[in-house]
Amino acid sequence: MDPFASPHNLDKQLQSLLGEASSLLCDWFADTGNQAPLPDSFDLPEVTPKKEGESNKVLLRELQLLMNGAYRPSHPGALAHLDPPPLSVSIIGELICAGLNNNLLAEELSPSLSSLERKLCKWFCEKLDLGDLSGGVVASGGSLSNLMALVIARNISGLASDPSAVFFASDDCHVSLLKAVQIMGLKSESLQKVPTDEKGKLNISCLSSLYKKLKSEGKKCFAVVATAGTTVRGAIDPLLEITQFCQQEEIWLHVDGAIGGVYGLSTHTSGLIEGIGSADSITVNPQKLLGIAKTSSLLLLANKNHLSCTFATGLPYAEPLRGNDFHGGELGIQGTRSAECLKLWIGLRQLGMDGIEKILLDSVERRCFLESLIDTSKIKIISGPLHLLAFTPINFNSSQARDWSEKTRNFLLKSNFMLSRPIYRERYYLKAVLGNPHTKLDDLKLLAKLINDSIA
Ligand SMILES: *Cc1c(COP(=O)(O)O)cnc(C)c1O
Repeated sequence: MDPFASPHNLDKQLQSLLGEASSLLCDWFADTGNQAPLPDSFDLPEVTPKKEGESNKVLLRELQLLMNGAYRPSHPGALAHLDPPPLSVSIIGELICAGLNNNLLAEELSPSLSSLERKLCKWFCEKLDLGDLSGGVVASGGSLSNLMALVIARNISGLASDPSAVFFASDDCHVSLLKAVQIMGLKSESLQKVPTDEKGKLNISCLSSLYKKLKSEGKKCFAVVATAGTTVRGAIDPLLEITQFCQQEEIWLHVDGAIGGVYGLSTHTSGLIEGIGSADSITVNPQKLLGIAKTSSLLLLANKNHLSCTFATGLPYAEPLRGNDFHGGELGIQGTRSAECLKLWIGLRQLGMDGIEKILLDSVERRCFLESLIDTSKIKIISGPLHLLAFTPINFNSSQARDWSEKTRNFLLKSNFMLSRPIYRERYYLKAVLGNPHTKLDDLKLLAKLINDSIA
């Protein structure tokens, strides 16, 4: 077979290869219920290319090996992480995206798709109330969106060359902020952690007093990061109070809404993240709950010019654009970028607003249901208003909790429930993320029973 599709004739070989590969994938989905979320073991195909290329038959067989060893997000018991199954059309989006092989670096390498990305980001901005000047950019993951937000915030506040400048985020903020500190050449104490309250939300009076102390030491602050949906328990920082603080002190507010941001898309759930529209920038990860195939993250800004102010370098090898728009490669850290907006766009169109709302409400309902079944006379639950919860035995010391978490995770895996085992406040928990649309209430009844029985 010619390894490149014919530009002249209908490529029958490509057509049948796509058909066979689709069948493999559909069979893989269909077999999921008979398998576990995680395979016990797996074989890898040969990794390096031989002198002569392999036939499609061999390639498909090798593909099957990898599929057999894959994690299965659509298993009803796959509840460990923020990794739901992909929407069917989001798979198509990824396939077509690869086929088109356009590049969001420059308009001339992706005319329709660059325009789609701008419009889609704008739609998200409008849904989250970011105002008239808003706009955004798609990024390969929330860590990158957060990093870009912090780089912009530091730049806009004029502190780009001040190595002692700091930013604030809660004790429960995401590890990607720590990574940003490393990348941005900041000192480790540049990320000032603010204590949280008993619900895992940033304590606003602690923020005020830490900021006063900072000012008295003559140091400057370039951003506050509020988390809308923390990774272990789904807590939402007090966005209205933090906004007020930031406006008063004229500090950039970034909301890490990698988990909670999508709740702003439905009027039934947007109250959970009330105030998010006053942020200067927001990270949203549609990959984490809406079923958009990985990766799918957006960085949204109240003023979209801040993207180009920070990242535009000129693209001397691309045709200049008319008007005020910038090439995709001038709006963020990434240069060459695939059209991740394609699978996001088609996925949202497939769901419609009703489908989006259903995913959000069903996920919260599953979390509430599981929470209601866990025996709180022996188990402590930590959760917020979203679709995650974590729990640990009440009467165990920390080493007993560690042993329990390991034993129970393995035991649950044998019953085809996969939970994760985060360490939170130096103690082990088990965590369930209820964003999987295949998990039924009966599954959760069984899970709750196993959890309750795990402690005598
Ligand atoms: C997952 C997550 C991120 C990072 O997103 P990636 O896509 O994994 O890079 C950032 N913040 C929060 C709160 C998250 O849960």
